[in-house]
This record gives sequence, structure tokens and C-alpha cells, in this order.
Amino acid sequence: SGPLDKEQMQGLRGVREFLKVRTSYDVLPLSFRLVVLDNNLLIKKSLNILIQNGIVSAPLWDSQNSAFAGLLTSTDFINVIQYYCQFPDEIAHIDQFRLSSLRDIERAIGVLPLETVSVHPMRPLYEACRRMLKTRARRIPLVDRDDETGREMVVSVITQYRILKFIAVNNEQYTMLLKKPVRELGLGTYKDLATATMGSSVLDVIHLMVKYNISAVPIIDKDNRVLNLFEAVDVIPCIKGGAYDELSATVGEALSRRAEEFGGIYTCNEDDRLDAIFDTIRKSRVHRLIVVDDDNRLKGIISLSDILKYVLLYGEEDDDIRGN
Ligand code: ADP
Repeated sequence: SGPLDKEQMQGLRGVREFLKVRTSYDVLPLSFRLVVLDNNLLIKKSLNILIQNGIVSAPLWDSQNSAFAGLLTSTDFINVIQYYCQFPDEIAHIDQFRLSSLRDIERAIGVLPLETVSVHPMRPLYEACRRMLKTRARRIPLVDRDDETGREMVVSVITQYRILKFIAVNNEQYTMLLKKPVRELGLGTYKDLATATMGSSVLDVIHLMVKYNISAVPIIDKDNRVLNLFEAVDVIPCIKGGAYDELSATVGEALSRRAEEFGGIYTCNEDDRLDAIFDTIRKSRVHRLIVVDDDNRLKGIISLSDILKYVLLYGEEDDDIRGN
């Protein structure tokens, strides 16, 4: 191994140490707002609330039992869509579903309920990251217990995006040591990519996301050039107001409905180095990077989980890589 390997390991170790001495609480901004939804709310209404607040997920609260009841995410809406596809005659019912029926929907369509992992805000951030990688959760609720009442309290939710941003902003001295190019690290996925075209239907793309268990599908033209990206969160405006029949619309039509504040898509090249990717994360709202060649042709995709996995686990014991 050369000096580049040595530097790279030094950078990785620095970041890992940082994650061990910081807590999930440290990631939270000084002041923030948390939208918590009552489990008894109609699913239809929850969609409007998410859209109005410009958010894509929220913790659920069971007010009967005064307990945290899981996290509402775009996966839940995709499940409702699958339910609609399997039981189209139920459409009148779907309109009346409450958030508390999401578990029944999972059962009806035969998907395994997602494990609701949570972490205590004062535990090391490293632990939250490991949990995320192990369970494939993209976001984890921070749950504390009220000393007086003994009740659970949802403090906030941290995402892979927030954590990587926190790393990028606070560890420039370490991330600048990560000089190996993406190609050499094998960072991301390059084979068997799920893609769609502007003319594909939204439903086709949703089925792809379910089949591959992924949260975004690159939209390409006939020459494999990247035009856009359809993300799981793009599903939310599509079914606003219970317009399930509009899922047969094309990707092109759906993407034109994106909110104004949409941050755009980020691309990189296989020769880009990890330090440059961290610079992008530091400066922008990146949720994944599409790897393209000089002609903008699709080569691969790097998810935030790919980056987090590399940063935490590369070069660790085999045991660790399996997430034990
Ligand atoms: P995250 O877990 O960060 O939200 P994804 O669910 O999109 O990311 O990605 C999970 C895994 O699938 C990653 O290893 C990623 O490289 C890969 N992946 C992401 N998008 C695609 C795609 N369109 N086709 C094939 N593989 C993908």
C-alpha cells in the first residue's frame, strides 16, 4: 500500500473517531421544528401536512397510549399505492384509511413491516450510523424518556443526509485526506441499474423502486444520457388529494410537479475523488450522486448509504462489515 492508502486510512480513522465522540444530539441545530403526526389522522390529510410543511417524513404519535408509533416515510405511501394496485376496488376505502392502518396495509400487500429502530439522542453518533447501515434505515428517530412521567419523547429525526453533512462540515481536515477516486474505491452501484425514461409511467417507476429496494431511479434518454432522477419522495405530490388514477401519468408529467425548492440532481465522474464528494455534500443538499461519463451517459449511482458504509466500515474487521 502506498502513501495514498495511508492518508486515506488516516482520514477514515479521523472521521470514525469524531463519530465516536459526538452524539446524535450534536447533529441537531440549536433550534428546530418537529412536526409529529397523530396516528389517528387520515393518510390523505397527512399528505397535505407534509407538503404544506415542505417535509417528506414525520414521526407518528399514538395519543391513546402516549407512545411513539413509528416514522411515516415515502415508503408508506408507496405501500398504499401497491395496495391500490392489488385491490383497485377498495379505492373508496383507501380514502378513509388512517395512519394507524399502515401496518394493516403492509400485511395486506405482504411486505415485512420495517423495524422501527430508534436511538437515544445522547448515545454516540457512531452507534446511530451503525444502526442505520444494519437496518437500511435512511432516517432514525431520536427517542428519549421523560424523567418525570417515564413516557417516550421523540426529540427529532436524524437522516443519513444530516449525518454526512455534519461530517463534511466538521471534518475538513480528515475528508481532505480522502484522495482516492470513486473508481478505485468501487463506491456505488455500476451493474444492473434500474432506469426509466420520460415516457415511463409513474407506476412503472414505483414498481422498480419496490423491486430493487431503492429510493431513486435515473431517467435516461435512448442514448443512456441522464435527463433527471425520479425519487421516492416525488411520489408524494403525485397522490395528493387521493389522485391514485394519475399514477398512470408519465414521469415527465410528474417531475414537472416538483416543488420550487427542489435542489436539483448531482452528478459526478468516476475519476472524482471522495474529498470532492464531501465538498459537494458540505455545500449542497445532496441525497445521492449519479455517476456519468464526459458525455453525461449513465455509469452508476452512489447513494448516501454507500458513502456512509465506506466511511464507517472500510478496512474494519469482517465481523464489523456484517454489522454485528
Ligand atoms: P439510500 O439507502 O441511501 O437511500 P438507495 O436505497 O437508493 O439509497 O440505494 C441502496 C443501494 O442500491 C445502494 O447501494 C445504491 O448504490 C443502489 N442503487 C441505488 N439506486 C439504484 C438504481 N437505480 N439501480 C440499481 N442500484 C441502485
